[in-house]
Amino acid sequence: MNNEINQNANAPGFQVTNDMIRNSKTLTCECGGMLFKEALFFKILSPLISPSGKEEIAPMQVFVCENCGKVPSVFDKLEMVPNELKAKKPAWTK
Ligand SMILES: [Zn+2]
Repeated sequence: MNNEINQNANAPGFQVTNDMIRNSKTLTCECGGMLFKEALFFKILSPLISPSGKEEIAPMQVFVCENCGKVPSVFDKLEMVPNELKAKKPAWTK
């Protein structure tokens, strides 16, 4: 099974047509939600690893589900989203 999703659909030279949209499935959150909004979480870099040698706050942009308020795993390919923010499948679908 191929779960890879090309996230470069907006790359120059790649034309998305209306037909492509109609014939494509809609991305869903683990909870089944289909609407997402942009949100930020912040990481506090310790002086030990910060490039400036001082404590730094690093903003991280994510998309959160309008339904459950969590980040579906499809938007967390790099696994940088804290566990508390990750969307979970409802217990009854396990
Ligand atoms: Zn959700």
